[in-house]
Amino acid sequence: MPDRSFLHWPFFDDRHRDLAQRLEAWCAKNLPADHHDVDAACRELVIMLGRGGWLKPTAIDTDNPAPLDVRTLCLTRETLARHDGLADFAFAMQGLGTGAISLFGSDEHKKWLAKTRRGEAISAFALSEPRSGSDVANMDMTATRDGGDYVLNGEKTWISNGGIADLYVVFARTGEAPGARGISCFLAPADTKELEIAERLEVIAPHPLARLVFNEARLPASAMIGKPGDGFKIAMSVLDVFRSTVGAAALGFARRALDESVARASERKLFGAPLAEMQMVQGHIADMALDVDAAALLVYRAAWTKDMGAVRVTREAAMAKLFATDKAQEVIDKAVQLHGGDGVRRGHIVESLYREIRALRIYEGASDVQKVVIARQVLSEFRQA
Ligand SMILES: Cc1cc2nc3c(=O)[nH]c(=O)nc-3n(C[C@H](O)[C@H](O)[C@H](O)COP(=O)(O)OP(=O)(O)OC[C@H]3O[C@@H](n4cnc5c(N)ncnc54)[C@H](O)[C@@H]3O)c2cc1C
Repeated sequence: MPDRSFLHWPFFDDRHRDLAQRLEAWCAKNLPADHHDVDAACRELVIMLGRGGWLKPTAIDTDNPAPLDVRTLCLTRETLARHDGLADFAFAMQGLGTGAISLFGSDEHKKWLAKTRRGEAISAFALSEPRSGSDVANMDMTATRDGGDYVLNGEKTWISNGGIADLYVVFARTGEAPGARGISCFLAPADTKELEIAERLEVIAPHPLARLVFNEARLPASAMIGKPGDGFKIAMSVLDVFRSTVGAAALGFARRALDESVARASERKLFGAPLAEMQMVQGHIADMALDVDAAALLVYRAAWTKDMGAVRVTREAAMAKLFATDKAQEVIDKAVQLHGGDGVRRGHIVESLYREIRALRIYEGASDVQKVVIARQVLSEFRQA
């Protein structure tokens, strides 16, 4: 049984504790999904999560608008990740893909949200390009005004849900100013003419991923989310909400690795005694438990700060993502070690956690980039003092 004591921390309300309990029961009954066909599995997971009502927190309810609750997003990601990485992915992308619409969309754009919250439409967030992953402000893709339309040209790559999404939130250079101030954000339905899924990408923990090509793809001016030149600000605001949730997913993977290791060390007998009685093994278990709790404190601190009305949580979210993902990697590596040969055996839960965690230290801002972000914040606070 995973440790639930953190749910009593002051970061949470009773509704969060209730959600965690109900979702745990749902996961135990419905997960893990069959991942044999990853596209089909993802589509099915979105439908299942939608029917269960679990996707509602991923986007605002237009009938009853309230800010996105980051603690709910984090708790849901942590719980899903502990049971099934692909279920966490399916949930997370519904939020990341529609974040710009929830925060900045027009009433017309927001019509999509009822569908994504019910699991009837799948969303994607298309920011990265072959030449600009970390260096987002340097993007090449253009959107040129032509009468009542914008014409999009360029490529997006590493796009999660690419190939199965119904809508893409796309960022392109509109040229109001150089660099970050000349980018705008658009809503492109998947059936947009001249939007092509040019390549499907395979990674170590399979999930739907693609390179997209826009070749004179025409969108009405009303497809723009926010104002011309606001795209970079919109992307950063979306990441400000969702970055801590990447830490929460890592926390879920790490917690699962710890649970599996505790069970294994307690059951496995070596040299006449359970593995858990060896002090060096206890040292590993202690390090893992410490990293899990410290990561949880940073993740839920960031989520709580955002939910309490902070306009931006750049520093808190960067710390949560950096620490939780890097430490989860270490925790899972220790779990592999404690499982011996089984730890690297294809299909073993610990082996899949080892593959699942890696990309989280790269996407939504690589670990090195998070360090730069944290240092900048700390230094600017010193200069302002
Ligand atoms: C599985 C997966 C899913 C993804 N999903 C999406 C998605 O849905 N939508 C989307 O838009 N993108 C997505 N991405 C893209 C992801 O955001 C980029 O891969 C990431 O931003 C890194 O960009 P890059 O791959 O071009 O690496 P680069 O930008 O070339 O960076 C390579 C490395 O250089 C180092 N580095 C970079 N900048 C700095 C710096 N300032 N200081 C110090 N070191 C630095 C880091 O170690 C970094 O990992 C996904 C990526 C993966 C792997």
